[in-house]
Amino acid sequence: MLTDDLFSLVMDVKLTSCSICPWQWEEVSGYDENMNTIRTYQVCNVFDNNQNNWVRTKYISRRGAQRIHVEMKFSVRDCSSIPSVPGSCKETFNLYYYETDSDTANKVSPAWMENPWIKVDTIAADESFSQVDLGVRVMKINTEVRSFGPVSRQGFYLAFQDYGGCMSLIAVRIFYRKCPRVVLNGAVFPETLSGAESTSLVAARGVCVPNGEEVDVPIKLYCNGDGEWMVPIGRCMCKAGHEAVENGTVCRACGSGFFKSSQGDHLCLQCPINSRTTNEGATNCVCRNGYYRSDSDPPQIPCTTIPSAPQSVISIVNETSLRLEWSTPRDGGGREDVVYNIICKSCGGGRGGCTRCGDNVQFIPRQLGLTETSVHISDLLAHTQYTFEIQAVNGVSDQSPYSPHYSSVNITTNQAEQTQVPMSPTPSAVSIMHQVSRTPDSITLSWSQPDQPNGLILDYELQYYDKSMAEWNSSVVRSQTNTAVIRGLKPGAIYVFQVRARTVAGFGRFSGKMYFQTMTEEEYKSSFQEKLPLIIGSAAAGVVLIIAVVVLVIVCNRRSSERTESEYTDKVQHYTSGHRMKIYIDPFTYEDPNEAVREFAKEIDTSCVKIEQVIGAGEFGEVCSGNLRLPGKREILVAIKTLKVGYTERQRRDFLSEASIMGQFDHPNIIHLEGVVTKSAPVMIITEFMENGSLDSFLRQNDGQFTVIQLVGMLRGIAAGMKYLNDMNYVHRDLAARNILVNSNLVCKVSDFGLSRFLEEDTSDPTYTSALGGKIPIRWTAPEAIQYRKFTSSSDGWSYGIVMWEVMSYGERPYWDMSNQDVINAIEQDYRLPPPMDCPSALHQLMLDCWQKDRNNRPKFSQIVNNLDKMIRNPNSLKAMTPLSSSVHLPLLDRSTPDFSSFSTVDEWLDAIRMGQYKENFANEEFTSFDVVSQMTTEDIIRVGVTLAGHQKKILNSVQSMRAQMNQITSVEV
Ligand code: AMP
Repeated sequence: MLTDDLFSLVMDVKLTSCSICPWQWEEVSGYDENMNTIRTYQVCNVFDNNQNNWVRTKYISRRGAQRIHVEMKFSVRDCSSIPSVPGSCKETFNLYYYETDSDTANKVSPAWMENPWIKVDTIAADESFSQVDLGVRVMKINTEVRSFGPVSRQGFYLAFQDYGGCMSLIAVRIFYRKCPRVVLNGAVFPETLSGAESTSLVAARGVCVPNGEEVDVPIKLYCNGDGEWMVPIGRCMCKAGHEAVENGTVCRACGSGFFKSSQGDHLCLQCPINSRTTNEGATNCVCRNGYYRSDSDPPQIPCTTIPSAPQSVISIVNETSLRLEWSTPRDGGGREDVVYNIICKSCGGGRGGCTRCGDNVQFIPRQLGLTETSVHISDLLAHTQYTFEIQAVNGVSDQSPYSPHYSSVNITTNQAEQTQVPMSPTPSAVSIMHQVSRTPDSITLSWSQPDQPNGLILDYELQYYDKSMAEWNSSVVRSQTNTAVIRGLKPGAIYVFQVRARTVAGFGRFSGKMYFQTMTEEEYKSSFQEKLPLIIGSAAAGVVLIIAVVVLVIVCNRRSSERTESEYTDKVQHYTSGHRMKIYIDPFTYEDPNEAVREFAKEIDTSCVKIEQVIGAGEFGEVCSGNLRLPGKREILVAIKTLKVGYTERQRRDFLSEASIMGQFDHPNIIHLEGVVTKSAPVMIITEFMENGSLDSFLRQNDGQFTVIQLVGMLRGIAAGMKYLNDMNYVHRDLAARNILVNSNLVCKVSDFGLSRFLEEDTSDPTYTSALGGKIPIRWTAPEAIQYRKFTSSSDGWSYGIVMWEVMSYGERPYWDMSNQDVINAIEQDYRLPPPMDCPSALHQLMLDCWQKDRNNRPKFSQIVNNLDKMIRNPNSLKAMTPLSSSVHLPLLDRSTPDFSSFSTVDEWLDAIRMGQYKENFANEEFTSFDVVSQMTTEDIIRVGVTLAGHQKKILNSVQSMRAQMNQITSVEV
């Protein structure tokens, strides 16, 4: 409650006394209860009859108040305490008011009588006084409050009428009541005066605080007669983009990175992942570049992106129908609603062009919006080449300006059943294309190699169409180099071109559209005329020129006949992408090996490196995974090799030598060096992170889980990396599955370029056996390298054969538990490792070729790569599994299905075939004796709980071999 004083009389303000009254109120001094001197108006004519003494206030302005309150402090003498007082003695006085619009009062007006005044009340004292202390009369002060209303004139006077009492008026306060300005329920209510009656309620409309909004009904509050707010109705809430703070009295704009999508009491929320705000007070967060929201996505869920391409597409062709199967994309874009569309193109119709398939091709269950990861396609044309693109799309694909990511397969109908599996990601898009020359009917274009070829580029597909025609009219040309001449064009017409690269993994994405125009006939004529004088003028010189050209052609022809086609393609690609083949420089040829580190490895500031966890043990210290954020680049996952504390200068040099070797290489199948930290401790070598770790353990963990094509794809990657090292004149000397790293896309990369493990001093690792002049991994090393340290790329070729064997046997130890000396002897006597279980003969033959005694007879890595590419393109060549009769080599006893009779229990046998994890399953189903196990069928194997197809096959093979061995024993016994 608030009050406002209209008038306050405390002693000094004079009242006006009645000029015609018999007696007067007198202005005198007295004492209050606390003996303070006070001035009062007094009257005390109790002994005289007919008292009628008036006193009035000055004119009091009403100031909008409708009800006036009067607080009076006064004292009254007890009549009975006055000796021989007449009966007319009073202990009360009357309070009056008189309304008028201006201060018009004078000595006679308003009249000193009841009319025209309006009586408010007769005021009696709660306490009257009678004592006299120490000769001084001490007053008892009463306080009484009266109110009156409604008042409506501009102002009023108050009058006090004594009619025979003995009293003093000490103070008068005149005021009105009001409800204060208040902020309640999100709205501001102005100061409001109480109503005319003490029971009146004055309604006040609230105004929402800035950025607040009324909910439903208009917001109201009532001010009662006591100046108190009551009965709130309705409320305001902060609108979208604003939240209530300071007890709901302020709607504050959401800060940067926060949003509020609707009106309400809730607080601003942090922007979901992949979104941000552009200003304060955001009602939603906008998606970062490349991220989107579908119409039905609520604003609080993260923005999402388009899915990556479907993975591991397999095509199974049967006559004129086809089954396509694929795995879900590695990245669903952050959404669960990925579906697939199949784009069918037939590439048979003349001059290599591809066109969309007609409506007659049948897709089961359907062509677009497939929720499952397979489709059956029928009614294809016979003996026709088709390209199928499997697009992955999700709820935001239609918002992305980019076309969906897809994986494609090429098939030809009416072939025997064929299966194709891309091994690694497809190449990235070609970023730039430019015109080399043009005529009225042709354009010659060249383009850059994709930034990430992800393998050897087999060829490019160039798609083009006349800009004035529809896109579906487009034609296609293929080129094995990164240039192409497009003929048969219209003069002066603009053509739209797109190009994409193809590796064994399939086609990459098309480049952006680029426009080039053919010459008009006029342009052509005038350019020809410009050149004419030059041609004639140089006719004499022409003879010399012709001779020079002939010589050049001969030289070129000779060179190119020495080179395979793929080398030619490589050459063009290297040339156009600005790379020139370099030769590896041994860092130890530097006088100061630190100089080599500075030259070949980028120094990284340690603050850019965040170590997350230890993932392995290296020669010189822990190997960790972590993050690298170089200024201006996005954060990437890395592997960090550290040099343990307390190293010697020599150890530091040897440790860093690996970086100066690795830093010279740049190939998708060679582990990539990001840089080194040498200026602070610990010293680190930072490389790209390979999610699946080293190949040997990765294969052991996934025994039997890959298709032959996938394994060949891994081998192809390793061979491509080795070909590159070979081209650089680098001999690895320690090629083994343990030194190959595998990333999440199954891409294999050659690593381990440290030389220290060959050094004599380190005796910790039994893989490396001391030999004259260093240590050698016997099982992986070619005989001439063991005997007289002849390490060449041909000895790397021998090791490659061993890696092939490791891969095809899922990480089996070469030569099992044979001693190193036995291995050396067996090789000397022309024994070679037998084909691992399920290993295609073609691959074992390639291994045997790598293990030729005469190193000159071993295949070069370029041949190995070509050989494996052919197998991938023609998977039928991998079907044959028959033992090789033509081999000049004697295979060692095949230990992949060991002799069961050398084991006393089924458990031991399971351990030997590396299926020990199923011991309990076998025991639970009572397959505990060789008799019972030898009779097991595929169904039995599934029933005991072997769910992985590779493991089922392995156990079944071993069971069959056990059965065969048992039959042999029985027949011998008979
Ligand atoms: P190294 O000293 O090169 O033999 O590395 C020791 C171990 O650390 C390897 O066997 C791998 O398990 C792991 N490792 C090394 N480099 C990487 C990498 N770039 N990515 C993932 N793991 C790695």
